[in-house]
Amino acid sequence: MIQLKSRREIERMRLAGRLVAEAHSIARSMCQPGIRTIEIENELEALFAKHNARPLFKGYPGEVPFPAVTCISVNEEVVHGIPGPRVLREGDIVSIDTGCELNGWCGDSAWTYPVGKVNAECKKLLEVGEAVLMKAIEQIQPGKKWYEVAAQMEKIVHAARFSLVEDFVGHGIGKEMHEEPQVPNYQDLAHPKENFRLQVGMVLAIEPMINAGTKDVGITDDYWTVITLDGKPSVHFEHTVAVTTSGADILTLPA
Ligand code: MG
Ligand code: MG
Repeated sequence: MIQLKSRREIERMRLAGRLVAEAHSIARSMCQPGIRTIEIENELEALFAKHNARPLFKGYPGEVPFPAVTCISVNEEVVHGIPGPRVLREGDIVSIDTGCELNGWCGDSAWTYPVGKVNAECKKLLEVGEAVLMKAIEQIQPGKKWYEVAAQMEKIVHAARFSLVEDFVGHGIGKEMHEEPQVPNYQDLAHPKENFRLQVGMVLAIEPMINAGTKDVGITDDYWTVITLDGKPSVHFEHTVAVTTSGADILTLPA
């Protein structure tokens, strides 16, 4: 069952979204050569603590609970990377995904940042990834079926000769981080029932993951980190977005 949110509830979600956006502005500025990924984690954990926000990722259930407030995934790591002693180097691309609950409402956003100057393939991947997310947001209209939006996302990725990850999808979000519906970044023709119709008051975390090579991914022996099977780089862009009468309202933007 999809929980629709009132305008007042959406405004409360925006406060959580703004804090997530603030976390991203800190993260972006820290993606520099020589920084350890744990340093970014520590800054963001401190930010959420300062605002009495509950981090959504730390303790997330799995084979082992997720140990951090951020997922930091470098280069061929797609999502769910665990922050640690790894030192960022010039030319890396760093996907940072984080979310928090503030006063009972959740925000979730991911972005991939370049470290210094990156190669041409990574530069294009970053541009295409952001374009795919923004195209999806621009396409949102109440009454439209989600797969019409997903088709536009696929079109951009295929034109660039990259691939869309299918093993992980976006999601509804509200009082919980993961609510109905599932929000695939492609037309999931095997599951036509999941082709939901956009309605005013839906809040979705839209989060395409785009790989330079194969769409196929695997999980490393830390139980969490998802990597591309061919070792080529990957990007991840996510906003929490409300469906309104006039289209889309991005909740994870800075104040
Ligand atoms: Mg996220
Ligand atoms: Mg998400």
